[in-house]
Amino acid sequence: MTKSRAARENNPESIIDLTPEGRYVYSGQTLFNNIPTEVVLAKGCVQTIHEVGSANSNVWIAPALIDIQVNGFAGFDFNAATVTSEDVSAMARALWQVGTGFLCPTVVTGSFERISNTLRTIVEACKTDSLVAHSIVGIHLEGPYISAEDGPRGAHPLEHVREPDWDEFQRWQDIAEGQITIVTLAPEKKGAIPFIEKLVANGIVVALGHTDASADDIQAAIDAGARLSTHLGNGAHALIKRHPNYIWEQLGADELWASLIVDGHHLPPAVAKSMVRAKTLDRCVLVSDAVALAGMKPGIYQFAGKSVELTPERCVRLVGTEYLAGSAIELARGIENIVRFAGISLEEAVSLATLQPMRLLNAEAHIEKQANLILFEWDPAQCEINLLATIIGGELVYHSETRSTEEKLTRKPNP
Ligand SMILES: [Zn+2]
Repeated sequence: MTKSRAARENNPESIIDLTPEGRYVYSGQTLFNNIPTEVVLAKGCVQTIHEVGSANSNVWIAPALIDIQVNGFAGFDFNAATVTSEDVSAMARALWQVGTGFLCPTVVTGSFERISNTLRTIVEACKTDSLVAHSIVGIHLEGPYISAEDGPRGAHPLEHVREPDWDEFQRWQDIAEGQITIVTLAPEKKGAIPFIEKLVANGIVVALGHTDASADDIQAAIDAGARLSTHLGNGAHALIKRHPNYIWEQLGADELWASLIVDGHHLPPAVAKSMVRAKTLDRCVLVSDAVALAGMKPGIYQFAGKSVELTPERCVRLVGTEYLAGSAIELARGIENIVRFAGISLEEAVSLATLQPMRLLNAEAHIEKQANLILFEWDPAQCEINLLATIIGGELVYHSETRSTEEKLTRKPNP
């Protein structure tokens, strides 16, 4: 039995064999096919990955996690007006420290200029940091073509919600140098269906979200090629007709995959379990939908002009209310939670944050080209992942001895 995560953080033990030549040898089992394996690194780079007769049976080797919806992390916010390319790099690198190796930075509803600025900054980060470029597998544009209604709109600013505009989108895609790979929109918006057809023709994954769509709108979007429901069950009215409604319609549509925020707050455990059962593992993807407070210590912060509280349970609330103000989990915590909530295996849960997003984005060639791995211990009694190392693009970018305190990972967000 492994120690609890808290115990390990206070007293980290290393399984790294650090020889005078600077060689690290990790020994563990591959998660998806149980092959005893050694990963040999020299000077921080993978030398060989090879099968061995026996290996450390409590260490698992799995693909690095892929998070297709990240708004911010460790005090950084992709959508802040002041975001810099250094912030984008720092955010990606902070995510590597918690096992998320690949991400789709998520650009949310805003003015043309603000969205353009965020896209430009992400592109700049990719040009100046090749490992970050490898790690960013696409950009997720969530909005601004979403429902203006309170509830479905979520925290997106009303003044910038608008109708789909192909010329505007093309200008953004030009600024993004073609990196926008997912667009979340509401199919009931005027002109949304031909807009979806154009996105699909351009190889973009179309996701339904922040929507008040009717059953007909949803079916028309599916017929036009929409493939995903973004954070199904969230970005919705607090009260809706029991049926039919846009949650059931999307849940029952076999053509649609669903991304799920499994932080224990956005979806109650029974809802998360029911959605996984209804969609099946082949059509689910875990996302963090993390905001800047993710990866930070519990406390009260000034964020986007509001006082928000990060509770010890990793729930982000507007101070003095029950309103959620974003998610603060790491994707690895979503894996732990879905094992608990849905009664699925570790292997199945990890696939929802690795193989599934890779399939959705058709990113196999990019991700499998180099060694992109996480190594971790799993405590089945506590359902806890204890991350030992992250390898991205063949480079060791994190191992558990490099993070001495949480301070190192985080910084305060700008008020
Ligand atoms: Zn959202």
